[in-house]
Amino acid sequence: MPREAKSALTASDVKAKALELGADLVGIASAKVLNAFPPDPRYPQTPERISPRVKSVVVIVQHIPVAAFRCKQMVPVQYLDMIVLRRMDKVAGRLAMWMEERGHPSFVTAAQETDWNMKRASYGYLSTRHLGIEAGLGSFGLEVNILTPEFGPRVYLTGILTEVELEADGPMQEQVCIGEGCSRCLYSCPGDAVGHFDIDKPACAEFAQEFGYMTVTAMLQKFAKADKAGKMQMLTSRDLFGFWQGILRVVGSFGDCPRCLAVCPVGVDYHAFLADDQKHIPEKTPEKVALGQKFKQSRKNNEEIPGLNDWNIRWVGPAGYTGQAAKTVRQNFRDEQKRLIQAAESADGE
Ligand code: SF4
Ligand code: SF4
Repeated sequence: MPREAKSALTASDVKAKALELGADLVGIASAKVLNAFPPDPRYPQTPERISPRVKSVVVIVQHIPVAAFRCKQMVPVQYLDMIVLRRMDKVAGRLAMWMEERGHPSFVTAAQETDWNMKRASYGYLSTRHLGIEAGLGSFGLEVNILTPEFGPRVYLTGILTEVELEADGPMQEQVCIGEGCSRCLYSCPGDAVGHFDIDKPACAEFAQEFGYMTVTAMLQKFAKADKAGKMQMLTSRDLFGFWQGILRVVGSFGDCPRCLAVCPVGVDYHAFLADDQKHIPEKTPEKVALGQKFKQSRKNNEEIPGLNDWNIRWVGPAGYTGQAAKTVRQNFRDEQKRLIQAAESADGE
C-alpha cells in the first residue's frame, strides 16, 4: 500500500532518483510507443501484454566494469555479470517501490525470463535492448546488442513498468555503431554469429551459453541413450561439472562469451581501458574481413537488408553514423575529469 498520498512525479524526479540509487544511465520510454512498435510484430513483446495499465517504462543501465574484459580468462566476466545483474535488480526494485510509495503502481520487468509461447531461445516478455533504444539510451550495433555512447555494449538493462505517465525520451536518430566499416564484433566472433545488423542466436549460444539450457537438455538426452560405460563416463565429464557450476553460480549458462563486447570501440571505457589490449583481434580472418566488406557494399548499393528495413531501421538509427554522440560523451567525460582535477587542486591549496 502506498505510504503517501498520490503525489505528482515528473520524469526528472524519477531519473534523479534512479541515478541516486546507483543506475549508471536512465531513460524513459512511452508504453504507447512500445505497444505500437514491437521488435517483431509476429511475437509482440509489449507492455500491454503484461499489463494494459502501464503508461511508461523507466529504463536503467548498469555498466559492466571493464576490468573483466582485460583478463585472459572468461570467468571474471561471467562472475561480474552476476554481480551487475543482482545490483541492477536491486536498484530497479528500490526505484519501483519508491514510485509506488508515491502513489504510482510500478514493477520491474523479469529481464532474464524466456516465454516459450513466443519464439524458442531467449525471448522474454519485453526486449530490454529495445526498451533501452526507445528510452533514448543508445542504438543497435552490427551484432544487435544495444550500444550506448558511454559504455558501448558493455551494459545490462532493465525496465520499471509504471502506471504514471512520464515524459518519454524517444529513440536516438543517430546510429551509435560505427557500422560495416568497423565490423570488429564480426571479426572477433568465435561462432560466426554476427550478421548484418542481425545475429544467428543458436550459433552465438554455442559460445555464449556453453552450459545453457539447450546444452543441458542435449546432455540429458545423450545420457538416457548411453550404455552403462557411456553413462559412467558422462558422470565424470567436464560437461556435468559445467552444468553443476551453472546451477550453483549461473556461470556458463549465459554471458559466457565476452568477445563482441570486449572489442567494440564505442564508449569512453573502451578508449580509457581496452583499446591497447583489444586492438589486435586474433580471431580475425580474411573470410571475415571479406564478409564485412560485403555488408558495406550491400548497404552502399541500397540492397534489401532485413536488419535495416523500414521497420528495423528505427532501432539502428535512421540518421546513420555521424560520430556526434560519441564526441559529445567524450567531451563531457573530459570536462568532468577537468572539473574533478581542479576541485582536488583547490582542496589541496586550502
Ligand atoms: S557473444 Fe560471442 S558468440 Fe555471441 S555474437 Fe558475441 S562474439 Fe559472437
Ligand atoms: S564493434 Fe564496430 S561494428 Fe560492431 S557493434 Fe561495435 S561499433 Fe558496431
